[in-house]
Amino acid sequence: MAIMTITDRHLRPLKNLRLSVTDRCNLRCQYCMPEDNYSWFPHREILSYEECGRLVDVFTELGVDKVRLTGGEPLLRRDLHILIRMLREREAIKDLALTTNGVLLAERIEELERAGLGRVTVSLDTLQADRFKNLSKSRDFDRVMEGIRAVMHSSLGEDFKIDTVVMRGTNDDELIDLIEFGGEVGAEVRFIEFMDVGGATTWATKKVVSRAEMLAEISSHFGPLEAVAKNDTAPADRYRLQDGRTFGVISSTTQPFCGGCDRSRLTADGRWFLCLYAQAGWDLKTPLREGASVEELAQLIRGKWVQREDRGAEERLSMKEREPLADAAEMRNNPHLEMHTRGG
Ligand code: SAM
Ligand code: SF4
Ligand code: SF4
Repeated sequence: MAIMTITDRHLRPLKNLRLSVTDRCNLRCQYCMPEDNYSWFPHREILSYEECGRLVDVFTELGVDKVRLTGGEPLLRRDLHILIRMLREREAIKDLALTTNGVLLAERIEELERAGLGRVTVSLDTLQADRFKNLSKSRDFDRVMEGIRAVMHSSLGEDFKIDTVVMRGTNDDELIDLIEFGGEVGAEVRFIEFMDVGGATTWATKKVVSRAEMLAEISSHFGPLEAVAKNDTAPADRYRLQDGRTFGVISSTTQPFCGGCDRSRLTADGRWFLCLYAQAGWDLKTPLREGASVEELAQLIRGKWVQREDRGAEERLSMKEREPLADAAEMRNNPHLEMHTRGG
């Protein structure tokens, strides 16, 4: 099959695949997994690396050229470097990235580098160990810091990002410190507005710090900001400080960017979601395990993508009363609604 480009009903191409390799996580971030109990996918339902590879091949035939490994916490998946090496060999993939909470990064960085990982993004919401403990129910702050330093000293330090979810009254006093820290470790920091996605059961409008507020605070400290022209469909809007340093803001909540969205998500158990806010996804694992050919799977995926109309974040913005997407009981029955299964 020749590589083709398919577009949805809003003429958005299928380009970017977030591949979740596990629903398990070693942190319990307040904005993602604040509950005490979760339902987990049974192990037999989780796609093997070989199955991931076969599905990724179908997606690349249809135009996907960017793959981001995510989770849950992707580094909890045993021998992730094997999957990375396998995907690295696919010429159609131009960009192979990983999003991680960083806890296991220091011990795995050489393996990831050797396997050919292209880029890494570490999620880091605070520079204060006590606050980290409250935010993530974990004492692993020092390990995350070690992970970040390990990236800095590796070849992955060249295109290195740190993602911070900003929550009012929790870590919104750390924007300046985080930009300074990003400069020290050679990473571009991207501030993400707190989103009302599945999993965010404690979400409330008043906890969202908008992009406008973040920019006001940052410019009052660093001086005027220059907007950096965008040349891709990445979700972040980037800004340059007067000293040349850059940072990004992902304003999914107050100024969503669905118009250019070329992303879709595959859960660890093979369910394909066309939007972060979609109520349902498409089961690709069953046909795959029943022996569907590449052409049959491609037809299934193509058929769904060309019908795609999703603009989830824009629809959320137009709601009068905004509440979390789903409550905890609903998500225990349907864990596919969770951000930690969809992969963020
Ligand atoms: N565990 C890995 C990590 O944290 O980097 C990868 C998976 S995590 C679900 C991916 C991203 O989703 C993280 O950067 C996290 O900050 C983001 N995320 C989760 N819940 C969010 C929320 N309610 N609002 C905004 N971003 C969220
Ligand atoms: Fe935090 Fe990522 Fe785990 Fe969610 S999946 S709890 S964002 S580390
Ligand atoms: Fe894309 Fe849905 Fe996110 Fe909008 S809300 S940017 S359509 S994934």
